[in-house]
Amino acid sequence: MSIAPAAGVVFDIETEVAIIGAGACGLVAALAAKEAGALVMVFERDASPAGSTALSSGMVPACGTRFQRDKGITDDSRLMAADIQKKAESRNDPAIVEAICRESGPAVEWLSDRHAVPFTLVEGFLYPGHSALRMHAPPSRTGAALMAALLAAAARAEIDIATEAQAVTLFVDDARRIRGLGLKRPDGRIEKVGCRALVLACNGFGGNPAMIRRHIPEMAEADYFGHVGNQGDAVIWGEALGARVDHMGAYQGHGSVATPHGILMTWALIMEGGFQVNARGERFSDETHGYSEQAVSVLAQPGRVAWDIYDARVHELGLGFEDYRNALSAGAIKSGKTIEALADAIGLPRAALAATLAAVHRPGPDAWGRDFAGKALSRPPFYGVKVTGALFHTQGGLVIDTKSRVLGRDGAPLPNLLAGGGAACGISGTTVAGYLSGNGLLSAVTLGRIAGRGAAALCR
Ligand SMILES: Cc1cc2nc3c(=O)[nH]c(=O)nc-3n(C[C@H](O)[C@H](O)[C@H](O)COP(=O)(O)OP(=O)(O)OC[C@H]3O[C@@H](n4cnc5c(N)ncnc54)[C@H](O)[C@@H]3O)c2cc1C
Repeated sequence: MSIAPAAGVVFDIETEVAIIGAGACGLVAALAAKEAGALVMVFERDASPAGSTALSSGMVPACGTRFQRDKGITDDSRLMAADIQKKAESRNDPAIVEAICRESGPAVEWLSDRHAVPFTLVEGFLYPGHSALRMHAPPSRTGAALMAALLAAAARAEIDIATEAQAVTLFVDDARRIRGLGLKRPDGRIEKVGCRALVLACNGFGGNPAMIRRHIPEMAEADYFGHVGNQGDAVIWGEALGARVDHMGAYQGHGSVATPHGILMTWALIMEGGFQVNARGERFSDETHGYSEQAVSVLAQPGRVAWDIYDARVHELGLGFEDYRNALSAGAIKSGKTIEALADAIGLPRAALAATLAAVHRPGPDAWGRDFAGKALSRPPFYGVKVTGALFHTQGGLVIDTKSRVLGRDGAPLPNLLAGGGAACGISGTTVAGYLSGNGLLSAVTLGRIAGRGAAALCR
């Protein structure tokens, strides 16, 4: 990844808004820029756009939507912002959080109504830290369905997406204005595309082991579960351009990835009464604090693994998730008619697991402060899944203003560079514990829309 002087460069083609990365952020930015009347091109390194977006559960938090109103749910950007800030111990820039929350409802309704993204409100359980039901997802609750819908919308809007086009160079003038980019093509050729505004939508640095070792050493040995093409290019370019980066130690982890199958087990299992034990059959935390920090707790257990334990009621809830059904077909989920039979099936000590279940059923808060009231695991058969902790995506990145403009180290916006999604500094505080469920796609969708509009405005 490099920065080169624009002077004297002859571009092969010209566009107005160039967007690097065709995940949720890039595609939403493209739809918004096109709608604002700009000529747009998206450049994606992969042959088939997918990104971390396709690996996700496709859940986008949004407040004040008609989907919520239809179900009688009261929610607004103040409540949502308060939830985000509470989880992040108020380490986020409040203006950015406010801008994102304000944009969330209109963005989800716009994607649904104008671009046929099949959002539905996810009901049945609250993710940790959310004080209202506000997750919107396609019916399958998969990021693959979200990506398919966004790609279809981009095709309908006649947006050009160049694939196998890895951006490797930004051509910059003396005023730090991006004049174009160099794209590496499969045959090794470098194509040069001129632009008037550039949106960085190429996510974070989860796929770059050296950057993870430097900024998030606690996850250096953990599995990375996000898209491997996310190599930290936005941060590398930004630093070279004199941009500010921040919160580089923040990330989304997950403490429930079925191992060795590598399938995400929804945290709904835990929130609805499931719990986690280690190889001794003992619990080790209040699991409801959040799935992100639970990655670290699980990796601290013997063998760096744990088991999700739950009953038939929770299993039925899990069946609503495609990932869960895949885990079932893959043989990751074991069961037993009694808790002792389950212990045998998953190779845990019988007496210890039975004692743990009995302790969970005692009224009042447990040793970690979790109260299972109303969520007893009393319907056999019992289920167990061996899981590990993983790194999903990084949350640190380029510092932006409320218009998604990348800020220089002097605090002033660079002339025509915008960023969103995982390329921008997130709203998840400074550590693994600041990630509120859905912050990833929330930043991708809302900042994508803001950046797309802003980039188009720069071309007028
Ligand atoms: C398993 C998993 C589950 C998740 N579940 C959720 C969830 O339910 N809700 C939620 O909010 N978040 C979730 N997340 C996080 C969420 O997926 C991300 O925050 C979000 O997808 C980021 O979107 P993005 O557009 O910034 O990046 P991406 O979707 O990763 O897109 C970035 C694109 O940029 C391309 N690219 C990178 N560098 C270049 C380059 N130099 N040139 C050209 N192209 C480039 C990549 O190939 C990629 O296609 C999950 C993540 C994982 C891994």
